[in-house]
Amino acid sequence: GETKEVDLNELLAEFSNLAYHGMRAGKNPINLDLNLDLAPNLPRVSLIKEDFSRVIINLCTNAFDALRVKAQRQISDYKPSLTIRTHSEDKAVYLEIEDNGPGIPEEILDKILQPFFTTKKGTEGTGLGLSISHDIIKAHRGQLDIETLEGKGTKFIISLPIHLSAN
Ligand code: ADP
Ligand code: MG
Repeated sequence: GETKEVDLNELLAEFSNLAYHGMRAGKNPINLDLNLDLAPNLPRVSLIKEDFSRVIINLCTNAFDALRVKAQRQISDYKPSLTIRTHSEDKAVYLEIEDNGPGIPEEILDKILQPFFTTKKGTEGTGLGLSISHDIIKAHRGQLDIETLEGKGTKFIISLPIHLSAN
């Protein structure tokens, strides 16, 4: 793919629609709240659309897996939810993907970006999603941060530089 100036909000709106419907159909449907909290007038960022789409898909797929796990625990009043948020500061655009799933245990937090690290059984997980996503984000001169609380959920924060040419 080639690098283009992209409106992240547009890209997200396309995907979240697909993802939302995919999540409610298919083999193990769950009913989730999808919240899109997209900043108006978000500056465009330089992206290879195909690569960055892969990141969004990977992070959303992980969130769905996590929500499904927690939904299966049949906690009363639990409503799975996924929030996709954009905002910007002076020099960076931020994309946050937040779930209210089980969270990530402290003791594995430093391993999840490693290739082939997975907690999913059998063929459900390859352990490659986050490692590939992290590589793609770095190739875009961006950064990936993770905030998580066991039992409460997980937020992945991607920041991408603005006012920088592609090379
Ligand atoms: P895979 O999804 O194939 O297991 P990933 O690299 O995408 O591989 O993720 C690695 C691991 O990180 C997962 O197996 C899971 O333990 C953990 N993880 C990733 N995203 C989340 C999330 N949103 N909530 C809880 N755990 C997560
Ligand atoms: Mg994954």
